[in-house]
Parts: sequence; structure tokens; C-alpha cells
Amino acid sequence: MKKYLIGVDVGGTSIKIGQFDLEGILQQKWDIPTNKLHNGENILKDIATSILHKIDVQMISGIGIGVPGPVSNGYVLNGVNIGWGRKNVSEEFYHHFPYPHIQIRVSNDANLACAGEVFQGSGKGYKDVVMFTLGTGVGGGILVDGQIVEGINGVAGELGHMQIDHVHQIQCNCGKKGCTETVTSATGIVNLAKIKLSQSNKQSMLRSLDSFSAKRVFDYAKQGDELAIEVIEEASDYLAYAMSLVTLTLNPELFIIGGGVSNAGDFLLDKIIKHYYHYVSSLITNQKIVIASLGNDAGIYGAAYMVK
Ligand code: ZN
Repeated sequence: MKKYLIGVDVGGTSIKIGQFDLEGILQQKWDIPTNKLHNGENILKDIATSILHKIDVQMISGIGIGVPGPVSNGYVLNGVNIGWGRKNVSEEFYHHFPYPHIQIRVSNDANLACAGEVFQGSGKGYKDVVMFTLGTGVGGGILVDGQIVEGINGVAGELGHMQIDHVHQIQCNCGKKGCTETVTSATGIVNLAKIKLSQSNKQSMLRSLDSFSAKRVFDYAKQGDELAIEVIEEASDYLAYAMSLVTLTLNPELFIIGGGVSNAGDFLLDKIIKHYYHYVSSLITNQKIVIASLGNDAGIYGAAYMVK
């Protein structure tokens, strides 16, 4: 009988589930809502029910589950977005999915996005990879020799919370100030634009707007708006600085830039590369840095990779 891998990506509003063959080709995918009532106590039951409804259990060889929050050894340590505290996810999942011969593994969603890109995306063929996911916040993922690095407290790869900005000191959701996330996420780009608008007298199309998104800043920068270009240069510089610190720690083969902000494509990538070489050792002359290719599906690909 043909066997399949199941990849699950638990998000704050919906849960993505994908069915893959053993080579990693997506067969079908679907979403279910994230039920956050009662501290998310029904989430794992909903996932189990949905999978059993769609696929014959005999055909499943493994289920990987990605969750928002630090994970170490199968324990989610703090799944704030979905109401979970410390939880042994695979053990609880078995209560709702009582087939002990099927492998269940759990990891952090941003780590799995990195693994997904390595499995079937723009990181295919690489083993030592670091990914920055620039969305509303900034997620990070690290693969060393093809293995996800979690760290003893599950915080390895929390690249969005490296404190790299000692100038603006913008408050981060994590409680600290000056994190990578505060100056390189979509929110961070808007933060930088607001600061620049208030500190400079330069003309900008942004001045006519009451509020704007990071995409608007990119659109204006691409149209030649000087202040918007300065904002993107500054955000790229911060990200490049964070990447240079990671380079000195891990010296990865490949950096992947993902998340909604990476939709800016080469316009962003060229700036990141320029600033990156300003910071790194002269020994590094040909660092591979690419834009992610799997979009929002990276998490389910990575979750499936984990049980491959
Ligand atoms: Zn932070």
C-alpha cells in the first residue's frame, strides 16, 4: 500500500494540513480553523479528527506538527498565540490518534519553514541553512547537517529576537527592545518609515497617507521615492547585520529570506546582499542568499520533512 507523510502547521487563526508522498510531492492540502477556546484544548483533537476523516490511517507513515512557540524534545514550552502553556504535544496527540506505530514529531513553525524550503523549496540540496521569515514578526530557522537545531530551551533560531538595534530601541512583543523583528518585519519597516518621516523634512509620497503598510513603502521605493528607499536600505542593513552575526556563529551554506516582506524579491535581496558584505569577514566572498519559494506552504512541507 502506498504510504504518505502528513504535515501540519498550527497557526493563530487556521491550521494547515498537507498530505505528501514519500518523495515530498504534495497530494492534497486543506485548512481547519484554530479553536483557541479553553486554552486551545481542542486543537490536537480537531487535527486528529480532520486527518482521519480525509485519509485511511493505514496509509499514513508519519505526522509532523509545527507549532508557534519554542519547542524542545517534543515539548512546546510556551505556545502563547494558541493558548498553550507547556505541553507534550506528541503524547497528547496520541490520545486522539491512538496508532503508536505511526511516528509523530513536533517542532517550531519557523524552524519547519526552513526545513520545508530545504525539502522542496529554494533550499533544496543544502544541509546547513538559516532562514529569516519576515512577516508581521520575524521567525528564524536553523538547519545544521539537515537537522533542525532547537537548543536546550527551544529558543535556538529565534533570530527575530536578537537585539541588534541600539539606536531606535523600539519595544518588541517579547518584552525586550531593539529586536531584529522591530526593524525588519513588515511592522518594523512601518516603524522605521514613521521615524524617518518625523525626523526628516524630505518630500515623500508617504506623507500624504494617514497610515500605510510595508508593501506601500516598497511600492514607493520602487517608484523612486527617496525617503521610502532610505527606509528599505535601513531595514536591509539591519537584516544584513543580523545575518553577519549568524555567519560568525554558524557560517551556513545558504540564507533563505521568506515571509510576506520577501515578496519584494530582488529589489530587497540586492540591498541585503550589498549591506551583508559590508559587515562580514573578507573570507566570505560568495555567500548564497535566496528568496524562499514555498510561501505559506513552507510549514507543512517542513513538518512532513521531519517524519520522512
Ligand atoms: Zn523581541
